[in-house]
Amino acid sequence: MSFFEKSSRLLAGDEAHIWHPYAPAPSSIAPHLVESARGTRLHLADGREVIDGMSSWWAVIHGYNHPVLNQAVSDQLEAMAHVMFGGLTHEPAVRLAEKLAAITPSGLSRVFFCDSGSVAVEVAIKMALQYWMSRGREGKKRLLTIRGGYHGDTFGAMSVCDPVNGMHHLFSEVLMPQFFAAAPRCRADADWDGRDLEEMENILEAHSDEIAALILEPIVQGAGGMRFYCPEFLRQVRSLCDEYDLLLIADEIATGFGRTGRLFACEHAGISPDILCLGKAITGGYLSFAATLTTEAISQVISTRGLKMLMHGPTFMANPLACAVALASIDLLESYPWKQRVAAIENGLEKGLFPCRELAGVKEVRVLGAIGVIETREPVPVQEVQDRLLAQGVWLRPFGRLLYTMPPFIASDGEIEQITKAMFRALSA
Ligand SMILES: *Cc1c(COP(=O)(O)O)cnc(C)c1O
Repeated sequence: MSFFEKSSRLLAGDEAHIWHPYAPAPSSIAPHLVESARGTRLHLADGREVIDGMSSWWAVIHGYNHPVLNQAVSDQLEAMAHVMFGGLTHEPAVRLAEKLAAITPSGLSRVFFCDSGSVAVEVAIKMALQYWMSRGREGKKRLLTIRGGYHGDTFGAMSVCDPVNGMHHLFSEVLMPQFFAAAPRCRADADWDGRDLEEMENILEAHSDEIAALILEPIVQGAGGMRFYCPEFLRQVRSLCDEYDLLLIADEIATGFGRTGRLFACEHAGISPDILCLGKAITGGYLSFAATLTTEAISQVISTRGLKMLMHGPTFMANPLACAVALASIDLLESYPWKQRVAAIENGLEKGLFPCRELAGVKEVRVLGAIGVIETREPVPVQEVQDRLLAQGVWLRPFGRLLYTMPPFIASDGEIEQITKAMFRALSA
């Protein structure tokens, strides 16, 4: 069978049998077939080689097919690919838990491993609810969040996604009703305005007895709109949570592991949450994996009162391959001056994307760490823009009124320039 025949057969099979994310079946836009990937590049079956400006949705921070990460997976494969975690434990899980406890914001020393970001959010919600049940505060069952958030696609996570951009209108009858406060408008501490907290304070004043936890994405609201906000807001939220007796859940699934220029986005505000969700880049993009961390005090309340256990346990919990590659990915990050690299990417994104402000149809351009966002006035015509980007050797996936990039940290200055130029041209056409 010729190369071309093989590709056509695979694409026909995809069309016949597969469901892609947020898509009808078959997809309205035919997917591109990827043969392999190495470094920053995807090798498409039609012979094109393109830079992945998405890091496969924030995850592939060190690039594809990395020799160190490959080695970590194959070494672990020799020992065991998987083993159940009920009643058993293993070195990769123990070492990874120790590592995460050491590098995350202070106080988070107890780690629950899960299989994906959405599940990490479900576990965080469950921890918060069980914490208050164990303390006899049965009334505290609901969550407070800010508008514009994204926390995943499972039902608990969906209930705290933005009520307009999210799927509330579809599932309003089944989603747990939660409290929503205004998203912060301040971009930097310099323009901090206390009015950003008014709605939240009003909700807390009236309902804090019903609220178990406040959940938000620190500093960067990702898939809910790619917005950045000022650290002062996060500091104020931390003290409101203490004042009104609720737990703070930081969802760092997108921001964790260096993306914003700090190892964790909470560091911009110098705060520690009570519960932290990690995912996406945790394995360097090798395997689906996530973790929910909490403090010893919270874990002790859940473990010593009421049911005396956390009621969760995924089949593939703490998968050894995932733990091993996560450890290797964190070691790899710590092995080079990644902060300088992310700062250089930030510079390159600013230099290349700020000129897009002059383009008709562009509403705003914003850059933070290794994240570059162009917000347009009208929805981006996905296929057209994607084809123009691919013709310039760049893979991006716009959604709604957003064309954005979060490249792998190993992207060179030249590659950042190629990405930003392609974005400029794709929107100026
Ligand atoms: C992607 C994401 C999730 C969901 O993670 P999945 O692995 O896709 O389930 C949750 N929260 C945030 C902030 C995310 O970016």
